[in-house]
Amino acid sequence: MSAPARTVVAVSGAGPSAALAPPADVAFRPLRVALPGDQAYWTVLDGEYRVVELADRFLRDLRFGADRSESTTKAYAGELALFLSWAARSGRELERAAVDLSRFVLLLRTTPIERRGRGYGEVRSAGRINHILAVVREFYKHAAAHRSVDPSVIAALYEVGDDRFLPAELRGEDGALRYRVRPRHKLRATRAARPRVARQEEWEALLEAATRWRDRFLLVLLWFSGLRIGEALGLRRSDLHLMASASELGCPVAGAHLHVVPRANANGAAAKSRRERVVPLAHYVVSYYELYLDEREHCRAALDCDFVFVNLFHAPLGAPMRPGRASQLFRSLSARAGLGRRVTPHMLRHAAGSAMMEAGGLDVAQALLGHASISSTQIYLHPSPERQREAVERIARQRRPAAGRRL
Ligand SMILES: [Zn+2]
Repeated sequence: MSAPARTVVAVSGAGPSAALAPPADVAFRPLRVALPGDQAYWTVLDGEYRVVELADRFLRDLRFGADRSESTTKAYAGELALFLSWAARSGRELERAAVDLSRFVLLLRTTPIERRGRGYGEVRSAGRINHILAVVREFYKHAAAHRSVDPSVIAALYEVGDDRFLPAELRGEDGALRYRVRPRHKLRATRAARPRVARQEEWEALLEAATRWRDRFLLVLLWFSGLRIGEALGLRRSDLHLMASASELGCPVAGAHLHVVPRANANGAAAKSRRERVVPLAHYVVSYYELYLDEREHCRAALDCDFVFVNLFHAPLGAPMRPGRASQLFRSLSARAGLGRRVTPHMLRHAAGSAMMEAGGLDVAQALLGHASISSTQIYLHPSPERQREAVERIARQRRPAAGRRL
């Protein structure tokens, strides 16, 4: 029996058995890799800026084998970097790190987030830790499948049980023994965290602070359509069907609307959902688009670009707007508007989601937001005390006994 060589956190150029003696401050980090043909994914570098081979293969397969989005590989790379940093700092090889995973969980539960960004300085929620652990498990499964780690590590990560002690009615119909696999390390996440929602007055203040029609259109579009920022930045002019009828274009959808089309974009923007969807647009939104087009026409470099959102005021002029530029825009608008917090594009999406829910119900909101599962939409349910009272009063009016029968 040939057990694979014990794997250290292997780095490119070094064989799998080359022991990496990490310096105490070793920190792994995610890195974006752009490939020819507008494709990109994220990988992980070790403390010496070398590509971590195993992580790289996992992330590349995820992006190009499993067709996951670039932003998914970005999130995964960040979380893997965290795990690999812990393993290397504590001198554990990969197999040992899997066995000692509960130590990593403890670290996650007790140390605040060090990377600048969402939740910086706060302790991670159970849901966020579970996501990190899910990524770690996927990484090990991938490595085990490729025999890069001893497949026995999987037993350290998963508990395997069978159904022989379940009551007969809960067992499989054919009477065959079934196995259940469940992760050993999982925190109880009490409820989905309340999404942070932009308030009406915040959005209006941003709109007032904006000085350009492009930025105003972006604000109006996100606020009313609830698009993800990646979806908005990935829009092509040909995705916008603004006439009462687009049948000449071969599109059967009536009324002004846009198409969210999943595709790889040069600007790194990605539609998260892999299904195309149609989002109807109110006339109000269309009018902002027309004002923006007037402004856009003055930028000669933008004339040939099919993307809706392009750089009009910063180099490279006429190039598709990148997600980083949009984040910057929201940061500076929030500051200029004097808001006490930074409002993000995603907070506009949450506001749109709540409004859609109120106006159209759960199923309408799910379709408009492009959620694959209704449970993602459910976090937009925020029954206010007023609505609850209203419901109780309405039921009381409708269902009490007729006046003559009152006791
Ligand atoms: Zn259409």
